[in-house]
Formats: sequence, structure tokens, C-alpha cells
Amino acid sequence: MSEPAFSRILLKLSGEVLANKHGFGIDPEKVHYLAQQVKPVYDANVKIGLIIGAGNIFRGLEASAGGMDRVTGDYLGMLATIMNAIALQDALEKVGCETRALSAINVTQIAEPYIRRRAIRHMEKGRIVIIAGGTGNPFFTTDSAAALRANELGSEILLKGTKVDGV
Ligand code: UDP
Repeated sequence: MSEPAFSRILLKLSGEVLANKHGFGIDPEKVHYLAQQVKPVYDANVKIGLIIGAGNIFRGLEASAGGMDRVTGDYLGMLATIMNAIALQDALEKVGCETRALSAINVTQIAEPYIRRRAIRHMEKGRIVIIAGGTGNPFFTTDSAAALRANELGSEILLKGTKVDGV
């Protein structure tokens, strides 16, 4: 295989890419498929940061349009990203990728706290760093979190995988 074009990337996946045929929830087959797509990049020794959205489960803005407090809705959205991150972690480990999940919202039983230096260290050790909890702040999206983390982790490129054609 030829040399990869990038040595350190940040891949942002929209929550929707995990959804079942009804556009909701976590479909294990979809998650497995995504893990299989990431595996050759991992095998090529590319350092991978992976950040996942939650549009398949919950979006704060939509909930606030329905009457929920915006901040409450956004925290639910951030919690939903953690569910997606753990599902992705499971699938990636099953195809043979070593991973660590780091969350901006502390859930220490299931993910390490997001600490920039720790994230870099994991990547240096060849682990895929799965970034959960977005920025940890309401009124943002996981796209903003992806841009922020890509910059602070020294990613050479930020890639976005979504269901929107052409993106
Ligand atoms: N969210 C947030 N702060 C963040 C990242 C996400 O409040 O830093 C909340 C927000 O409510 C958002 C939801 O989490 O709608 C899910 O993220 P996003 O909409 O970006 O998911 P995607 O569209 O990528 O699936």
C-alpha cells in the first residue's frame, strides 16, 4: 500500500450514519460497517481522532423547539454522543483496533475524561481516540467540537462523514 497522505486525522461522523432504516437509534450493522471502513486507515498507522454526533438520538435545538429548555436539551444531546461513542468503540475493538474513549462530560465508569495531552498520548501509542461529549458546552454542535479538537490535537485534516450528499 502507498504511503498515506496524512499521518494525523480527525474524522467527524454525524450521528445519522449510525441510525437504523427508520433514521433513529444505533444499528449494530451500520456501526460494524463503519468500523470496517476505519480499520484499513488504522492499519496504515494513521493517527485517528474520531468524533461522533448524536442526530440519530437527540438534538438540543429540536427539543427546544418542542418546548424543552435549550441547555437541558443540549446536555441530552451531549449524553447521546457518549452512547454513540461507546457503540463505535465496541465495533472498532471487535475489528481489531485499539481505542480509548474520552469524554468532555465526565462519565468515568465508561470513558476517560477528555484531557488534550492524554488524547495526544493515546494517538501516539497507536490508539484511536474516540471523542465523546462534544465540547462539553451547550449551544454548540459536534461540528464545532470537531473543529476545536482537530486544532488542539494537531490534526492535519478534518474529515466529515455525513449523509448529506457531497459532504
Ligand atoms: N451538543 C452540545 N454541545 C456540543 C456538542 C453537541 O450541546 O459541544 C448537543 C447539541 O444539542 C447537538 C447534539 O448535542 O444538537 C448532538 O450533536 P450534533 O447535532 O452536532 O450531532 P450530529 O448532527 O453531528 O449527528
